[in-house]
Amino acid sequence: MTNNKIYFIANWKMNAYSSLINRLNKVINLSKKKKFKKAGIIYCPPFTLLEQFVKISKRGNIDVGAQDCFYESGFGPYTGNVSTKMIKLTGARYIILGHSEKRTIGDNNNIINKKIKSSINEKLKIIFCIGESYKEKKQKKTYQVIKNQIIHGLKNIKKYNDIIIAYEPVWSIGTGLMPKNYEIFQKIDFIKTILRKKFKFNTPKVIYGGSVNSKNINNLKKIKNVDGFLIGGASLNQNKFIDIVKKTII
Ligand code: PEP
Repeated sequence: MTNNKIYFIANWKMNAYSSLINRLNKVINLSKKKKFKKAGIIYCPPFTLLEQFVKISKRGNIDVGAQDCFYESGFGPYTGNVSTKMIKLTGARYIILGHSEKRTIGDNNNIINKKIKSSINEKLKIIFCIGESYKEKKQKKTYQVIKNQIIHGLKNIKKYNDIIIAYEPVWSIGTGLMPKNYEIFQKIDFIKTILRKKFKFNTPKVIYGGSVNSKNINNLKKIKNVDGFLIGGASLNQNKFIDIVKKTII
């Protein structure tokens, strides 16, 4: 881990019903403890629960983010879509963009770039997901793919420090498969170098995502340049999520 703030981003994906919110109570209590001040806990529920989450988050030291947005800004005749302005109005401060589960159903680098720009206009803090597929990994195209995703996703964006990059190998999401620590270290180092050199980021923040759980966290936290984790499946269970935070921080 780095010595900076450590992010724990809970991606609840398409899982939401009101009683699930009770699963936040223990996490709220934990976030108030001095020991865990360093933890940047961010919950990203579906749009339907954003306002409720924001309300509850005020009881503790946690933040709330959306999982996506539409690429057009403001309000307008776009049935079924949600803009960054609407997200901002819920009180959420973060947004996940470029998740592979959105890329596989149509989001390309150009669309993601528009979404990033719209999020910057609303001063949302961005969690920008990148990562190679299994096929790309086998073809040894990982570095080329992630560089391309960054260069095009962040086109015409400079010095916007409120972007956290989530390096998520697609083949690791929800599968239990995982790269070796040194492989994650190398990718994070590569990403941070691009962010510093090409985009003038002062302190690039890069987290890892893909099958993180309370069993493998003790090993993952040994990676020296990682700024935290994006957690899908394991974040739905508050005990497991708390376990991840505790094992990382203590
Ligand atoms: C994710 O949704 O970004 C993710 C990493 O999921 P999981 O932790 O379930 O692999």
